[in-house]
This record gives sequence, C-alpha cells and structure tokens, in this order.
Amino acid sequence: MGRKRVLITGAAGFLGSHLCDRFIKEGYYVIAMDNLITGDLKNIEHLFGLESFEFAHHDVSKFVHVPGKLDYILHFASPASPIDYLKIPIQTLKVGSLGTHNLLGLAKNKKARMLIASTSEVYGDPSVNPQPEEYWGNVNPVGPRGVYDEAKRFQEAMTMAYHTFHGVETRIVRIFNTYGPRMRLNDGRVLPAFIGQALRGEDLTVFGDGSQTRSFCYVDDLIEGIYRLLLSDYVMPVNIGNPDEITIKQFGEEIIKLTGTNQKLVLRDLPVDDPKQRRPDITKAREILGWEPKVSREEGLKITYEYFKSLPAEALINKEHKDFTTYNR
Ligand code: UDP
Repeated sequence: MGRKRVLITGAAGFLGSHLCDRFIKEGYYVIAMDNLITGDLKNIEHLFGLESFEFAHHDVSKFVHVPGKLDYILHFASPASPIDYLKIPIQTLKVGSLGTHNLLGLAKNKKARMLIASTSEVYGDPSVNPQPEEYWGNVNPVGPRGVYDEAKRFQEAMTMAYHTFHGVETRIVRIFNTYGPRMRLNDGRVLPAFIGQALRGEDLTVFGDGSQTRSFCYVDDLIEGIYRLLLSDYVMPVNIGNPDEITIKQFGEEIIKLTGTNQKLVLRDLPVDDPKQRRPDITKAREILGWEPKVSREEGLKITYEYFKSLPAEALINKEHKDFTTYNR
C-alpha cells in the first residue's frame, strides 16, 4: 500500500507551504506543485531533502500530469491579494477556473478526494454579518476583485458539479483572512503592509476611515480546520476563520503597540469594492469538525512579527511587484 500521497497546488505559497509541513508531519508523501508566480521556494526549501517530498514546477491552468496513485488533492494555487488581482487578473481567473477543471479531472482519474480553497470573497461586500455558509453573497463581477471572487464562485460550482455528476469526493473550505509566518511582505495585504511600514519607520496606511472590519485567523488554526475538513465526510462548503472581529483602525493601533514604534495612522482612499465588514459564522465548523480557533490575535501577531523581524533587511525594501508581463497569458 505504501504511504498516502497528496498533491498540494500553490505549495510554495503562504498556506500551501504550511499544508506541506502538516502533511509531511502526518506521514504523507507530498507532491508540491507551484508555478512560482507569487509563491516562493524559500517557503518549502527545508523539505527538499526529504524522501517523502517532491516539487513540480508547473502551472495548473495547463494540463496536469502526475504519475502514480493519488489519495488527496488540495488546490491552493491562486493569487490571493487585491494587488495581485490588479497585476495578474487573467492568471487569477485561469487558475480558479481552468486550473480547478484540470485538477478535478485528475481527481476523477485517480479516484482521489479533492479539497478546494474557496474564500470569504464569495460573499463579496456582505449585507449580513457574520456570514453563514447559506449566504449567497454580494459580489461585483466587473470590479477589481471580480476576477478572484468570480473565479472562486465558479470553482465552487465546478467542484459541486464534479461531485454530483461524476461522483468525485470533494470538500470546499471558505477561508477568511488568515495571517502568520511566510506571508509575502509586499503583497499589499493589511498585516504585512502594517508590519513592513512599522519596521521601515513609515506611518501605517489605513484605507478609508478604518471602520471596515476583518476577523483574523492564525495560520496554524486554519490548517487544523482544513485537515479536519479533508478527513470529514461533509461535502458542502465550510467557513474556517476566527470570528474575533476588529476594525482596521483598531488593528493598526494593535500593530503600533506590538512593534513599539511611534508611527501614526494615516488615512488613504478606500479601494473599490472593499468589503465593509467580514466575520465568519463558524457554527458548522464547530458542529461538524469539532473545530474552533485556539490562537488569540495577541499571541499570533507576536509570532508573526518575530518572523518578519527575522527576514534579511533587503526583504523590507518596498520593491515593486515582480514584473509579470512575460508570463503566458
Ligand atoms: N488595508 C489598509 N491598509 C493597507 C492595506 C489594507 O487599511 O495598507 C485595509 C483594506 O482596505 C481592507 C483591510 O485592510 O479593508 C484588509 O485588507 P487585505 O488586503 O489584507 O484583505 P481583504 O480586503 O481581502 O480582506
């Protein structure tokens, strides 16, 4: 029989790399796939010497070939920050749609169970708070976030169709804002933005008046929830996130306190379609998976700050995003 084999896409990214660590720890053989557009091999280089780990440099928007048996597929490949959607909108659409289709085909052929990384963005700018899985969302398909939101909504629809029509075993996790070590410092997300600014001695840029809310989940909690969902027999979408909701202004103040810097908060324009509130209803995760987050924001932020402080000084330079124009569209 041998050990169970899992394919993780987006494996060099923030969440993908933590999933690789978890599955290695659980004794699986891990095939890590990434096209490295937004991922970074540094996140998984510590696994390269292991005989139960291999890396495949591949874009899952193109046909995916994996020799041998596969037990599980976790599809985590996607740009995942508003700056990325603006810079690489078409790749964002393709990985969520074509990439998902390719991987569902692979899951069907290999009789593997597939879990897809969906997102709280399927709820758009929600008119109900907190958001239960039954809420259908309020998404602008043609706004700047539409390329991500609609790809993820299509991804869920495609996944359900493969489940009902082809009998593929599928799982759908809706991931809310998550943070922790290995986030990209310059991806534009609020936590790396604020910590990077504090470390460079710049003021913290709060978008809008800072009254919009988010609920931040520490990465270890998220990975535990995903692991439990994969091994459960529940097919409908499940929210995984931390319901501890906070305004972005309060969050900025917490980061200033954490970093012990004297920076101020400065207000900037609110990006188009920026959700005003976001908080997961995690009743389902609690009841079906026996899961809830364990790490407080205070504790999680401390660990994350230590990680960013440990990076080489050059990582702190607010470099322009990589030039993506040479990538195949
Ligand atoms: N944000 C901010 N300053 C920044 C970056 C982000 O105030 O430098 C705000 C952003 O407008 C949003 C919130 O922080 O309201 C979370 O943004 P992020 O991009 O991290 O995630 P998302 O909007 O996808 O939840």
